Formats: sequence, C-alpha cells, structure tokens
Amino acid sequence: ASLYRMDGWGDPYFSVNSSGNISVRPHGVETLPHQEIDVLKIVKKASDPKSAGGLGLQLPLIVRLPDVLKNRLESLQSAFNFAIGSQDYEAHYQGVYPVKCNQDRFVVEDIVRFGSPFRFGLEAGSKPELLLAMSCLCKGSPEALLICNGFKDAEYISLALVARKLALNTVIVLEMEEELDTVIDVSKKLSVRPVIGVRAKLRTKHSGHFGSTSGEKGKFGLTTTQILRVVKKLEQAGMLDCLQLLHFHIGSQIPSTALLTDGVAEAAQIYCELVRLGAGMQVIDIGGGLGIDYDGSKSADSDISVGYSLEDYASAVVRAIRVVCDRKSVKHPVLCSESGRAIVSHHSILIFEAVAASVYHAPAMSSHGLQYLVDGLPEDARADYGNLSAAAMRGEYETCLLYAEQLKQRCIEQFKEGVLGMEQLAAVDGLCDVVSKAIGVSDPVRTYHVNLSIFTSIPDFWGIGQLFPIVPIHRLDQRPCVRGILSDLTCDSDGKIDRFIGGESSLPLHEMEGEGGASVGGRYYLGMFLGGAYEEAIGGLHNLFGGPSVVRVQQSEGPHGFAVTLAVPGPSCGDVLRVMQHEPKLMFETLRHRAEEYGGGQDHDGMASMALASGLAQSFHNMPYLVTASSCGLNA
Ligand code: PLP
Repeated sequence: ASLYRMDGWGDPYFSVNSSGNISVRPHGVETLPHQEIDVLKIVKKASDPKSAGGLGLQLPLIVRLPDVLKNRLESLQSAFNFAIGSQDYEAHYQGVYPVKCNQDRFVVEDIVRFGSPFRFGLEAGSKPELLLAMSCLCKGSPEALLICNGFKDAEYISLALVARKLALNTVIVLEMEEELDTVIDVSKKLSVRPVIGVRAKLRTKHSGHFGSTSGEKGKFGLTTTQILRVVKKLEQAGMLDCLQLLHFHIGSQIPSTALLTDGVAEAAQIYCELVRLGAGMQVIDIGGGLGIDYDGSKSADSDISVGYSLEDYASAVVRAIRVVCDRKSVKHPVLCSESGRAIVSHHSILIFEAVAASVYHAPAMSSHGLQYLVDGLPEDARADYGNLSAAAMRGEYETCLLYAEQLKQRCIEQFKEGVLGMEQLAAVDGLCDVVSKAIGVSDPVRTYHVNLSIFTSIPDFWGIGQLFPIVPIHRLDQRPCVRGILSDLTCDSDGKIDRFIGGESSLPLHEMEGEGGASVGGRYYLGMFLGGAYEEAIGGLHNLFGGPSVVRVQQSEGPHGFAVTLAVPGPSCGDVLRVMQHEPKLMFETLRHRAEEYGGGQDHDGMASMALASGLAQSFHNMPYLVTASSCGLNA
C-alpha cells in the first residue's frame, strides 16, 4: 500500500486486506475485518456470468458506494457543527451539493435523502440541472436551499421562479448584472416574490490551476460597482428585502486555509456592507473549493493536494466570518457551501482491466541461427556485426551499443531499399534488444494496455493533466516487480497515462502472467480512485467508447458484507451511435438487406444470412469495449 501512497489518499475508506486486495470501509471507521468490503469480490459479482451467480456486466465498471457518500456528507456537516459550537457562532450551516460534479440520478437522490436531516440542498448551473434539482428536492427538506447559479435567460429565471411557487427554497444568484431586470420583470408577471443572491467577484485570487475564474478579472460575478447598482435598482423596485444571499467562489481545490480565510473575510466585508445598505441578508454562500488530497501528500503547494482537513476548513470559514461580523455588529449569517469534489470524489471507484503488456521477449536464437543471419547480411552490415562481437569480447559495452545502433540503422536502410528480408530485419532488432538488455540500458518500463478510454473515463488527465491514484485492486501481498505506463483502447497517442501521483512517470505493477495471477484466472484489475467528481460528466465519446457499467454497492449482513442494489450495463454500440445522430435501427435494416443479398453463400434456405443478421443485431447491443475472458465469465 505504501508504494501507492494509499495511507495518505485512501484514509479512512480504502486499505489493503489480508488477501492482498483493496477493501473499503464504507463508513470510514474501523469496523471488524469481515465488515470491510473486498473490491475484488464486487468485481467478480458484477462481471461473472448470470449462470455463475454474477451479474454478467462488462468492464470497465464504476463501483458506487452510497455509504461513503453518506459518510462524506455527515463528516462535512459535523465539521461545521463542531466549528460553530466551539466558536459560539450564532447561526447554522446548511450546504448544497453542486450537481455539476456528478449529475447521476442515484448520486443526487442519495445526497438529498442522506442530507435531508440537516437541510442539505442542491446547486444548479443550467436549465437541465435546475430541472433535476427541482424534482429531486421535492423529496428533500423543505428548508433545503436550491441555489441557481450560472448565466441565465428569461426561461431559466422563469423556471427558478416556478420552483419558488412550488415551495422549493430557491435563490436566484445574479451572475451578471443584466439578469436583474429579467428577474424583476418575470417575478412580477408570475406574481412571485423572488429570493435573490449576488455573486461577488472577489479581489482574492487563487493562483492554482483551478483559480483562473477568481480575482478581479475572473469570468464570473459582479464587481463592487455592479453590486452597488443592483442594490440601487432593487431599492427603486421596492425589492431590496429580496436580496438575501451573498455568493462567491474562489476556485476549486483551494490549497490552503490562509487563502480561504483571505477570500472569506473579504466576502464577509461585502456581506456586512449589504446589511448596512438595507438588503435582507441572511445567508453567505462560500461556493466550492474544499479540496481533495489526491496524492496523499497533504501539501498546500500542489494542485492535487491540500494542506488542511475538513475540520480545519470549517473552522477557518466560521472564524473568518465571525470576526468580521462581530466587528461590524452584524448578525451571524447562515453558512452555506457548495462543496462538490469533497462530497462525491471518494464514493466511486473506476475498475478496469489490463489486457496485455508489452513484454520483452529475448529472441530464441541458436548460434546456428545467428550465423545464418550474419551470412545473409550485406558486407558492410557484416562488418558492423564483427566490430560488435569484438567489442563485446573486450568488455567495451559503450562501443557495443554504438555498433549495435550502427548495424540496426544500416539494416533499416537496406530493408527500405529492398536488399534485406523481413526475417533478417526482425533478427537484427532482436539482437540489438539483447545487447541493450545485457548491458542494462533497455527501457524497463512496459506498456500495459487497458480496456478503457481515458477520454471517456479520466478526461481530466487528458484535458488538464490532473492525476488520480491508480492502483491494482488485488495481488498487493506480492511486491510488484515491473514498472509500466497505461495505454488505452483509443487510437490516439494522448490515450495513455504516463504520469502518476508522487511525481512518478510509471506505476509499480505485477507481471500479467504467472505467479499469483491464477487466483482470478490470470486477470489483472486496476482501480482509479477519488474520481467521483467531474469525470463522469466531462468524459466524451472519442472513438465512440461510451461510459462504463455501474454497480451500486451497499454494506450489508451476509458472507461478503455487501449487496448490489443497482446494476446497469454501460451504453451499447447502438447507444453511442445514436448520440452521433446515427439510427441503429435503420443501420441494422440496411445491413440485414445486404446480408440477405450477399450473405447466403451456398445456403438456399436463408439460414446463413439469418445467422449473419442476428450477429449484426447483437453487435449493436454489445458495449464498445473489448470482451475479455473475465467479461465472458471465464474467470475462475
Ligand atoms: N460552485 C461553483 C460556482 C463552482 O464553479 C464550482 C466548481 O468549480 C463548485 C461550486 C464546486 O466546487 P468544488 O468541486 O471545488 O467543491
């Protein structure tokens, strides 16, 4: 586990059990060993065929853990409750979940259900997100906030006002000054008193990757001058009491509590000024930014780590607001945060399989074979070989390498000219590999081919270079003796992972075949952890690889300690084709006619063409990923 820095990023949910497999403590606390869930058992349950008691799902697979989600929510709430209690803060915390982090129906429904006892709400940034938030919050606490962020048109604003009519505690946060006129107009037309928030553009700037939207030149929010104009306009419309919330967002992955305190204190000053100007202020919404320690380094100097805990974060927020409000004798506002990453990152594990590794095979060449090769070489190449052998006899390894490279280049040229055959070129390649390996300069890093699309499932690695912990989910009782990079199924040179947490350019991995592999039929499974936020929604369809299959797994009594409460196969070839406006039904009909016309062969009763057509129909239903032995249920 230490090789993969698991103690740092995995705590308190993930560890290695006595079988050498990764196990999950879904409630984040020490439980008895049999209450931990063995991730390999989940994978087997999901991928074994139905006839063997499995669910017959194809990999890649997302394992969702609602118990972890519940624990994250409760931990966030208790961190704020503790900070509020210990600092005599005179209002409560009620957070919202920004659905953009993962809009999956079950994730959002779980959050609303688990968060209902503490008035947890939702944040939307677009019309479809608002629709889903509205319908999910119908089952939530009546006091839960529904924060409407993002750029808005009249349709968005009408929908938000309708949500208020439906008794959902909706706040329209002005992202642009222009939105105010529409809010005033539409609310009059619909006869609804709106609750309005403003998003302030803070001067505090977060300098990490995720901070480019912050600071005076940031993309979002209103400047001080604009906020003052909003106040004036609302006053003129007799609606200043409607302005009740101040929102800001410093950026995701805020690296330190020092920066957080700086931004929150600046916003608290604006809040107090709005109170002074007569607005009906009640809530300060500190946005997202509560970070995740992806590499377990607890460092404030990295985009993928943070130098604080949930408790430190909550305590810094409460202190910064209390100090400013007390100085101005302003009633403490209700605290809201839009923490997304911190709530959903841990709850899902992406499981994928390595299907092959580029293994170095020393060519089996007898001295007779070698002589044959040498005899077949043109004279100059034969001279290179002679020099190479002589240098080897003298133990001059650098010179050996030089002659080997010279021999190889000469042979490539001769192959291009048609002088050398393919067998001889391959033999020369092999000879050069033997030389490199013998003198220890061959590249020891292998390429592991994985049944996955990085563009679909780890898009932030490709897009912004973000690193996530990636670890084999089994065989961790054996020391990995190989190093490898991961190469995906897409025909794209960017479809590879060659940077890993800890600044590594390769990952310690196990041999694909041989010892230990037999325990799962020679399969080698890897897990990408902490990817529950953003990755699913951002992922694309490069090469038409769709999303993974999904299982929802809850802790339960019973021999394995878990129950699968939902199992959904990933999108089929037909599904992904439909996204690109193809019509799988029409495509199939075209191909079926073609099969009738050409596919009959000698067979006159139409059986052969029917068999072809049924194979084609199946191809539309199957997932785009490779069908491996384990996904056919061949693993033991
Ligand atoms: N709120 C707003 C306005 C955002 O732009 C974001 C994301 O950047 C979030 C909340 C969620 O941030 P995080 O995932 O860092 O908690």
